[in-house]
Amino acid sequence: MENLQPIIFPGIDPAKPLIIAGPCSAETRSQVLDTASQLAATGIKIFRAGIWKPRTKPGGFEGIGSEGLEWLREVRETTGMYTSTEVANHRHVEEALNAGIDIIWIGARTSANPFAMQEIADTIASINPDATVLVKNPVNPDLELWVGALQRIYNAGVRRLGAIHRGFSTYGKHLYRNMPQWHIPIELRLRYPNLPIICDPSHIGGKRELIAPLSQQAMDMGFNGLIVESHCNPDCAWSDASQQITPEILNFILNTLVVRDSKQTTESLTLLRQQIDRIDNELLEILSRRMGVSRDIGRYKKEHRMPVVQAGRYNDIIRSRVKLGEEMGMSAEFMKTVLLAIHDESVRQQIEIINDRNV
Ligand code: PEP
Ligand code: MN
Repeated sequence: MENLQPIIFPGIDPAKPLIIAGPCSAETRSQVLDTASQLAATGIKIFRAGIWKPRTKPGGFEGIGSEGLEWLREVRETTGMYTSTEVANHRHVEEALNAGIDIIWIGARTSANPFAMQEIADTIASINPDATVLVKNPVNPDLELWVGALQRIYNAGVRRLGAIHRGFSTYGKHLYRNMPQWHIPIELRLRYPNLPIICDPSHIGGKRELIAPLSQQAMDMGFNGLIVESHCNPDCAWSDASQQITPEILNFILNTLVVRDSKQTTESLTLLRQQIDRIDNELLEILSRRMGVSRDIGRYKKEHRMPVVQAGRYNDIIRSRVKLGEEMGMSAEFMKTVLLAIHDESVRQQIEIINDRNV
């Protein structure tokens, strides 16, 4: 993806983060036009609304369908905003592009499906390769699948291409609806520095109160913009009610966002980074010492024909260390991730010892 073109629209300052806002779903003509006019009044320039909604279970609101395209046309005419919607198959692409939608995005359930991505890429290429296309990360934390989805669109000839980070699903209840796993979009940025990446705090957080901190975090991490769900009456939304905010609250959040210049590196920051480098070296030395002890334990277990993993000991370690870590100001979630990773590596090293006839 060498020849990407920037996503620029007349009337939108390319030096500022790209902001897209609007309801999860287009529900009624008046809800769409009401929300759009309130957003436009606060200076939002790109409107979003889903008209074909991929729902987890049948029986929910599956989107208003093609009729919503007419409402989006009215939004464009009455407010001057650009419009965007989600597409999931060739018919959606055809209808959306022919209706003059300015940005189409591919949702997380679709970007996980290479057949659907190829069909969408081919259809965009045949109708308008100059279209602006955003690809959400697939639901599962698989960077290669995300890259593959982007490459299918790029290889079809689309150059105004961007990515949306909307978090990754996991089993069970967590603080976030979809885990941010920030290292994945960061890896994408390192591989493709010219690919704009927009953050979707609504689908990551799943809750209104997380929109502001996640948006700020995205700005601090150098994301190129935000796509936020905003509804004129969030409590009554037909989908994703708990994560939608009013245009007024969105305006407040955007006005309080601190957007830093990512290229500015002051002298004191350099000093702090040197400190981090030193601490990381110490961390690695300590980790490698710990693995050395693990290998000694492995030799002992081998000699005494003991199993590598002893569940009781393992649970005790995790429980006590998570508690200690929390007392030191780190989240339980973070502590569990780190400890499990260390434990996995210890087990791997012990198994190596046990299988090695020379030890
Ligand atoms: C959406 O943007 O409303 C949506 C369905 O998002 P995702 O594909 O990220 O779940
Ligand atoms: Mn939604």
